[in-house]
Amino acid sequence: MSDRDGKIWMDGQMVEWRDAKIHVLTHTLHYGCGAFEGVRAYNTVNGPAIFRLQEHTERLFNSAKILRMKIPFTQEQVNEAQCAVIRENKLESGYLRPLTWIGDKKLGVSPKGNTVHLMVAAWPWGAYLGEEGMQRGIRVKISSYTRHHVNITMTQAKAVSNYTNSILANMEATDDGYDEAMLLDANGFVSEGAGENLFVVKGGVVYTPDLSAGALNGITRNTVFHICKDLGLEVVQKRITRDEVYISDEAFFTGTAAEVTPIRELDRIELGSGSRGPITEKIQSAFFDIVNGRNPKYAHWLTKVSA
Ligand code: PMP
Repeated sequence: MSDRDGKIWMDGQMVEWRDAKIHVLTHTLHYGCGAFEGVRAYNTVNGPAIFRLQEHTERLFNSAKILRMKIPFTQEQVNEAQCAVIRENKLESGYLRPLTWIGDKKLGVSPKGNTVHLMVAAWPWGAYLGEEGMQRGIRVKISSYTRHHVNITMTQAKAVSNYTNSILANMEATDDGYDEAMLLDANGFVSEGAGENLFVVKGGVVYTPDLSAGALNGITRNTVFHICKDLGLEVVQKRITRDEVYISDEAFFTGTAAEVTPIRELDRIELGSGSRGPITEKIQSAFFDIVNGRNPKYAHWLTKVSA
């Protein structure tokens, strides 16, 4: 992925993709204190635009705040950097990856006196859990790994180090032949996927774990709240048990990468009809209308990348 043409924004400069390098003694590489975002740009009816750019940038700054890191750029500069990366790489749509990390000035555990850096890269990226999964639903397994407790790593930070837990869960599930993992919190309640929030539908009501289960406050999760309101669907945030998912009518994952991905099976138990459910389909279709600029009500969520 590193040896290719293109441009990456690094600490205020556009640098050649293959020259966007850091030193092996970079603090974040050793101890995992860093934060990132996953953002998508869509080729909308009005040209390439970034979906909920300001909310993603805000979450990045909040993640940094939680981790006691001071990003040496303003939110406006980080927004502009993301637009510039899409433009410079001539992308019509794609995935954006802003990352903030601690530098290589010193290597004790304490990052005090070290430097904080930021980069933004972007590249084309289709359906994260596969096109077929978007239509038919994916197969998921409850992970043997527990999701982070809210007072161990900070679960509202999209922290680099949190993702070791996601990697372990995802590798275990995919090695066992499933598409993705679902993690339980330290009390045994359903939390989220390795990189997605979870929703279940039962009796026409939409449920999602409340954030005390250690799930990230997903921006797509919030988008689904708006969609449900528009569709007249009640959304309830509550503690959800594993067997409540087994007997749900429908379930789906949400995320910037995963978008709205139906779940057809959990632990080899078919959920509902065992395919994409009708409410999931409606929410999915409303989601794609919004991100592709076909719903004027949410035009303010799309930032055009053209200068
Ligand atoms: N949970 C985790 C652990 C994630 O990595 C993501 C992806 N950022 C999400 C939930 C979904 O968040 P969002 O909708 O903001 O992408």
